Amino acid sequence: MSKYLSPKLETVTPYTPGEQPQDQQYIKLNTNESPYLPSPAVVAAVSEHEVEKLRLYSDPACTDLLKTAAVHFGLQPDQIMPGNGSDENLFFALRAFCDETHPLAYADITYGCYSVWCELMHIPSHIIPLKEDFTLDPADYYGLNETIVIANPNAPTGLALPRSAIEGILKANPDNVVIVDEAYVDFGGESCVPLIDRYDNLLVVQTFSKSRQLAGARLGLAMGSASLIADLNRVKFSLNPYNINRLTLKAGQAALEDTVYFEKTRAAIVDTRAWTKQQLEARGFAVLDSRSNFLFASTQEKKGGELYQKLKKKGVLVRHFDAPRIENWLRITIGTPEQMQIFLNTLDKIMEE
Ligand code: PMP
Repeated sequence: MSKYLSPKLETVTPYTPGEQPQDQQYIKLNTNESPYLPSPAVVAAVSEHEVEKLRLYSDPACTDLLKTAAVHFGLQPDQIMPGNGSDENLFFALRAFCDETHPLAYADITYGCYSVWCELMHIPSHIIPLKEDFTLDPADYYGLNETIVIANPNAPTGLALPRSAIEGILKANPDNVVIVDEAYVDFGGESCVPLIDRYDNLLVVQTFSKSRQLAGARLGLAMGSASLIADLNRVKFSLNPYNINRLTLKAGQAALEDTVYFEKTRAAIVDTRAWTKQQLEARGFAVLDSRSNFLFASTQEKKGGELYQKLKKKGVLVRHFDAPRIENWLRITIGTPEQMQIFLNTLDKIMEE
């Protein structure tokens, strides 16, 4: 750190993303990307013609993408805002709805960026422990008088709350925004998008990174009442009006339109997840009931950190969090059936050692 860094930043611990090796030598099951290619419609949409147009700024209003998204989700365009990944939309939401005197409430085991953004923006964190079995008790969130963020399904556990449970939290916090981070909802969760017209304190955040094969394009959607979305646009237009590049706008629109490809790849992940879970359980692992594109698993026989290291040595990358309560667990992204077979074969070798 240089001597010029603002003292306010000295104490911020940046988020550590999962490893992103660039040489393709690993079976990569560590950052919940899709193992499948983007839809052929996406490849066609990002044409040479569009590449040539990169000399011009992108549409700051994201008009075409919003039209498509509004039809897709049954909302009005002014109820949606695209972001540079859902990370950006979540950050904008915290900037808009929290500050030094307006805390953010979230679970002790959840997406790590929430706490980092709180540190960065000097937002007090109200951390609410999950139960012993990693489930979330909705009653813990009633009447908090604080902005709330809930990843549903949660990461890294993969556990999901029914829509009715989130509705209870919305009703019990009418004067506060409840952000529902639905990064993994397409793999078996119940989306809260249908509640948007009934609860003006609901903000749903989705991403194209997991179920639409576009992690590298960086695209997410925030959805809520027109007034909440106007608040987010206030932040966006105060920071980076052209936050979504031209190619991503085209890619996102094509991905949303290709519902057949979306269904096919989503179903494949759900099937492979069920099979992998069975296989891990047959090997004595505890595996949570994931509604996401990853499994959270542990074994009594080896420590999480050791398993992670040994898998990596043998060419399989998974995610291990050296954090209280979950240090013995691994988060394993669901890949293709072939990748999962290699993962299991590798695991078997390690367990025999
Ligand atoms: N929310 C959760 C719960 C996540 O796990 C992730 C991915 N790491 C994100 C948001 C951010 O995803 P992206 O910025 O790629 O849309």
